[in-house]
Amino acid sequence: MSAELAFNRNQDVDYGVAQEVGPGIRRIVANNPGPYTFLGTNSYVVGSGEVAVIDPGPADERHLKAVAAAIKGERLSHILVTHSHRDHCDGARGLQALAGGMIAAFGATGTPRGAGVPGLGEAFVDPSFAPDRRLADGDTIRSKGFALDVMHLPGHAPDHLCFALVGKRTVFTGDHVMGWNTTVIAPPEGNMAQFLASLERLMKRHDKVFLPGHGGRIQTPQRVVKAYIMHRKWREQTILACLDDGVRTIPRIVERLYGTLDAGLKGAAALSVLAHLEHLAARDLVAADGPSGLLGVFSSRAS
Ligand SMILES: [Zn+2]
Repeated sequence: MSAELAFNRNQDVDYGVAQEVGPGIRRIVANNPGPYTFLGTNSYVVGSGEVAVIDPGPADERHLKAVAAAIKGERLSHILVTHSHRDHCDGARGLQALAGGMIAAFGATGTPRGAGVPGLGEAFVDPSFAPDRRLADGDTIRSKGFALDVMHLPGHAPDHLCFALVGKRTVFTGDHVMGWNTTVIAPPEGNMAQFLASLERLMKRHDKVFLPGHGGRIQTPQRVVKAYIMHRKWREQTILACLDDGVRTIPRIVERLYGTLDAGLKGAAALSVLAHLEHLAARDLVAADGPSGLLGVFSSRAS
């Protein structure tokens, strides 16, 4: 197994322009590129005449106006939000003011939100995000020309939803499965056990296309989900190998595993290692000598 997953990162982006990416599906990319957002957040328009928008994107007036312009003359029934990270949800009220529609999302989780490194706290998560309608796993959103099944797939975020276009074997995967990189799992916002369980749920489906929150369409969904799972298992093994070699603190593990990583992403890498250690500890394969967390000292129970 290799460390790097192969992604097709050749995405043509024309910010603010609605592009057809499937039958009855248009995509408008927000101009918010960055280390966590790739070229920007994808907003999708589903249907025609009566439409839903999946992920309004950031509170960027130009982007929201572009989405509103793309659906001019159509009725916006729902603004669906995959999860309450600001690059997906912050534009919801602004889009509603421009185009109407009911904002629907999972809503409050009652769990600790955010993650304690710069850029991954409240700058990243909106813990007070409140939709007009709360959605739950198993709900179906029905409109004139389409139906979307709601799946609650936590892991990247506790409130993360994916939306499956009924009868089309197409899933809007948000940040659960992305088209350009592996997903950041940063505790307490992220949870590795939940993330893997959510991947297993997608594995059991037989979809043809995933449309992610960032990056281009995924034409081989099962292969990508399997690669995500394999990548996490491989990462877990490399962390256990570090512990066996006496590399027992998160900064040292990050140094060894991600030596070449951009300094700005090392905080997220540290949290990802913590997510793995928590998942190993929950299965009694690893223990913290003293308090757990980013400053903890860990050892393998097998050694
Ligand atoms: Zn995102």
